[in-house]
Amino acid sequence: MLPLVLLAGCVGVGAAVPGAPEHHRERGFVNQNPGFTRPGFWEIQRFRASRLWEALTGAHAAVEFPRQDNDGGALRATPAGPTLTWIGHATFLVQLDGLNVLTDPQFSERASPFSFAGPRRLNAPGLAFEDLPPVHVVVISHDHYDHLDRASVQRLAATHRPLFLVPLRMKAWFASIGITEGVEELDWWQSRRVGEVTVTCTPVQHWSARTPFDMNERLWAGWSLAGRDRRLYFAGDTGFWEPGFREVGTRLGPFDVALVAIGAYEPAVIMRMTHTTPEEALALFTAVRARTFVAMHWGTFDLADEPIDEPPRRLREAATRQGLDPERVWILKHGETRRW
Ligand code: ZN
Ligand code: ZN
Repeated sequence: MLPLVLLAGCVGVGAAVPGAPEHHRERGFVNQNPGFTRPGFWEIQRFRASRLWEALTGAHAAVEFPRQDNDGGALRATPAGPTLTWIGHATFLVQLDGLNVLTDPQFSERASPFSFAGPRRLNAPGLAFEDLPPVHVVVISHDHYDHLDRASVQRLAATHRPLFLVPLRMKAWFASIGITEGVEELDWWQSRRVGEVTVTCTPVQHWSARTPFDMNERLWAGWSLAGRDRRLYFAGDTGFWEPGFREVGTRLGPFDVALVAIGAYEPAVIMRMTHTTPEEALALFTAVRARTFVAMHWGTFDLADEPIDEPPRRLREAATRQGLDPERVWILKHGETRRW
């Protein structure tokens, strides 16, 4: 998320559309939580100043975390799954029933529209692009630069020709960068079957923007992957609104694993509506009825004011307080693969 796009918001998405789902607007979308609010102008300016100060002073030094060497050999040799590999941030390779699925592919040096500025990658992708097995499906949660990376999707389209499943109104962006085939838009609760896996687009509480002028014009979403006997939930970027996630759990759960963001929660005045703290991430995991929690959205890009290594510590502490079996809370290393 860029300070630049935080300036957005002066352009509205228009009125409700008669007969359309409740989250639709004339020129975009809104969240379903009636209590959803956006941070105020001065709060945003303060956050921008703190991010700029940090960029100039390097206040948050890069922290190198233990990595797991992964050359992708085992993933290419046993394509049936179910496995899960954390490549970094919100990028996972999921193998399920013979399908290789990538979530929010981000392999670039920066999560930014610019090559010279914006959040720089602190830890290299845990699996190099060249080592990926054939990618059949890519799911995209929303259009922020740390989740939708132009270079990564272009390279995937050119070398793997996957099916891109994307939230509503994102197809035009793909066409604008030359990807005109193999992109399908889904609305919240719509499903698409690929092979033996049913992929469903789910509501989350977030926002979208790639420039100051396109705020909330493209939908934001989470994704459920339901195979023959395994189910995975990928929450994308989201704030915690319990009724929304209970509905996901009721309609699509229980899940074997839930991939949930634990980083980018400070300052709360900016982040609390659209990101989860580690404690809220665990509440989300409970609401969707998942067996195993998988941490994401931390340790790869420095996007917010909390120390880089704080999210996993807070997550472990919260899990311990709740008496959760540590085996049910996975904090993977970059590059680590586990069966699920
Ligand atoms: Zn986002
Ligand atoms: Zn994000």
